[in-house]
Amino acid sequence: MNNRQIFLSNLAQTTDFPLLIEVEKAEGIHLHGPNGEKYIDLISGIGVSNVGHRHPKVIDAIQSQLDKYLHLMVYGEYVQTPQTHLARALCDTLPPQLDNVYLVNSGSEAVEGALKLAKRFTGRREIISCVNAYHGSSHGSLSVGGNEIFKRAYRPLLPGISHIHYGNPNDLEKITEQTAAVIMETIQGEAGIRVADRDYFKALRKNCDETGTLLILDEIQAGFGRTGRFWAFEHFDIVPDVVVCAKGMGGGMPIGAFIANKEVMGVFKNNPLLGHITTFGGHPVSAAASLATVQILQEEKLIQQVESKAELFKSLLVNPKIKGIRNKGLMMAVEFESFDVLKPIIDRAIKLGVITDWFLFCDDSMRIAPPLIISEAQIQEACSIILQAIEEA
Ligand code: PMP
Repeated sequence: MNNRQIFLSNLAQTTDFPLLIEVEKAEGIHLHGPNGEKYIDLISGIGVSNVGHRHPKVIDAIQSQLDKYLHLMVYGEYVQTPQTHLARALCDTLPPQLDNVYLVNSGSEAVEGALKLAKRFTGRREIISCVNAYHGSSHGSLSVGGNEIFKRAYRPLLPGISHIHYGNPNDLEKITEQTAAVIMETIQGEAGIRVADRDYFKALRKNCDETGTLLILDEIQAGFGRTGRFWAFEHFDIVPDVVVCAKGMGGGMPIGAFIANKEVMGVFKNNPLLGHITTFGGHPVSAAASLATVQILQEEKLIQQVESKAELFKSLLVNPKIKGIRNKGLMMAVEFESFDVLKPIIDRAIKLGVITDWFLFCDDSMRIAPPLIISEAQIQEACSIILQAIEEA
């Protein structure tokens, strides 16, 4: 029995994936391997470790919740202090109308909740999402994803879903009085960091208002300070009807949320058993970690530093092989000629001690999404390693 071969199926299955690095410890912006290897983490678990790995205040919050309770019940029978404190702290970061928080386990689950909410609230069945969107890997969230290759093997998926092109105002007329919701990443992440403009978001908001369509913004990757505002939609001077978040929200712990106004969320509240049931959603230990994360972002003024740190990356990453940099704050894509040019650069950078990767739907661009706590000296160190990797690859 002891000789039985076992497999951990979470591990990346493709042979060209560069990151099969064994990590023994993570601290701040660094990952440490079992043989003394030390890497600068420029990915942050794709926008998870915004406050860095094992931030002492996150660890403290987790430890003190461990002394109180781990899990109570499923249907909201108990008032759980970490959840209520977190809901208040989240609402304090949001426009006043977004005052109803539904805590879940993950980004995909938050998307599921938001889509179900839109169907219940509007009584409509059609959903519009974007080409090249990524919203998760459960059946519903996959259905609103915008990449056919990822979806093909799982059809039939949810009916009633059509796609528009993110940022293209001409497509907005496809929103009609049959549309329950438009779901969109505020900044498209896995498409390789695509940023629509303010006029587009204004027009999107107007079309949704005129047709009674709910606007769901997916801030799972872009939220929690990553773009230089707490929420990325703040850049565009609009307010969505529903915000979905996860990833950076937990400071490294699993948690997500969909957030709406009282009227919209009321359809779930009035009949909770037909709303969204989640056994572990808003787990108290994760909620405590999340509250600490919100406080760290604010107390350490990390969000205010995002723009200048992003500018420093852009001023240092200059090389003829770099075709351009797309970014909103520290959500960055460094573009190369092709995957064949980029891949050896990523491999070499990892050997030299800097971890980056590429995007699910954009493999000619290098992802740079460091913990927001990264210092200027660390940015300089990371960029000089990337430039060395470009030369040596
Ligand atoms: N939406 C976006 C924009 C994401 O980046 C992700 C995760 N990469 C998700 C949804 C799904 O989140 P999760 O993996 O927590 O289910």
